[in-house]
Amino acid sequence: MPSLSNLSPEQLADLRSTLRDEYAALKARGLKLDMTRGKPASDQLDLAAEMLALPGNRDTTAEDGTDARNYGNLQGLPETRALFAPVLGAPPDQIVVANNSSLALMHDVLVYALLKGVPGGERPWSKQEPITILCPVPGYDRHFALCEGFGIRMIPVPMTGEGPDMAVVEEAVADPSVKGIWCVPQYSNPSGETYSDETVRRLAAMTTAAPDFRILWDNAYVVHHLADARPALLNILETCAGAGHADRPIVFASTSKVTLAGAGLALLAASPANVKWYLAQSGRRSIGPDKLNQLRHVRFLRDAAGIDAHMERHRALIAPKFAAVEEAFAARLDGWDVARWSRPLGGYFITLDVTDGTAAQVVRLAGEAGIALTPAGATHPYGQDPHDRTLRIAPTFPSLDAVRKAAEAVALCTLLAAAEAR
Ligand code: PLP
Repeated sequence: MPSLSNLSPEQLADLRSTLRDEYAALKARGLKLDMTRGKPASDQLDLAAEMLALPGNRDTTAEDGTDARNYGNLQGLPETRALFAPVLGAPPDQIVVANNSSLALMHDVLVYALLKGVPGGERPWSKQEPITILCPVPGYDRHFALCEGFGIRMIPVPMTGEGPDMAVVEEAVADPSVKGIWCVPQYSNPSGETYSDETVRRLAAMTTAAPDFRILWDNAYVVHHLADARPALLNILETCAGAGHADRPIVFASTSKVTLAGAGLALLAASPANVKWYLAQSGRRSIGPDKLNQLRHVRFLRDAAGIDAHMERHRALIAPKFAAVEEAFAARLDGWDVARWSRPLGGYFITLDVTDGTAAQVVRLAGEAGIALTPAGATHPYGQDPHDRTLRIAPTFPSLDAVRKAAEAVALCTLLAAAEAR
């Protein structure tokens, strides 16, 4: 198959005309498909249906003898912290289990840092304005929205396939206004890559001008494998402690895409000093989390093997959707040299890099044909992708048939936009 650049003007004109006809036929089908957000589908939520009946009204006493129905236990029940210790790579006393939404924990950590400062810092971050957080790109739009909402400057750092470009990171952290970096280290949102050992070691060991620098380690997809091959991720807490920077990382995760996205548990793990700091701040905000939900999760998931088995059930439902996207993209786009896409081993997303300057046009074309995609630019701070290149495909929520149709349509729009742009 010829690449676009090898076509004669006549061949290119023929191709455009064929693709336009196909696109008109696509529009005429009146599809209505949504590939915008990485949400679990209802059959995935059904996997946790049994959990809703737990712990049952006679099973409300926690291992420490406390009544899970009552106030208290701000750090979370001991058995819940023990359940997630292997997932987070931290001992239970360095774990906080909170209510649903790890994003809320990230929000609160930023607010506390801005208003109060963090261990090792001389002043609240808001008293040192302007401050900056490094943002590996492509990245998670809600991280960027938090920074933007709080007036925190963002510096994009390119991802390399093994995590952020560490040469860029190491240079940037020589500036004392740089207070942190967002990281989605396993099956990154959206590129799917997992940080290499070298990336983790360099993040842990680098010299930062800010003494209160934080790695915001959002391990949202830590147990979300899509393949038998499971890339190993170094333990950030241990690696940083070994490098003499125990307080540098704050680890986040949740069961949003394990059990129930709207009614899961949010998790934080960090050094003893950071955990103490976090609890001191959050103790003013709440008298304690929903511990019935914590017991419910313990009864349902039981242990690390239980989590693993449950995630295998998710994989059985969503891996075919990822495969359908791959097949549709390969069938239409292979050989044309107009796009590249990720083949993730886990997580919730596929990154589609289209021909430079055409991402917004692909989203527009797809939208007009009834397929909603995440807006172009969402993967970058301030919604600005300087190359207008990167799209995030979220295949989990629609049905398998809808995913296939949507991916075929996106591939057609990608090729059409590239052909029109020549
Ligand atoms: N972090 C990342 C990287 C995500 O992709 C998502 C959801 O898509 C979240 C956090 C949201 O997590 P939670 O539901 O725990 O707030």
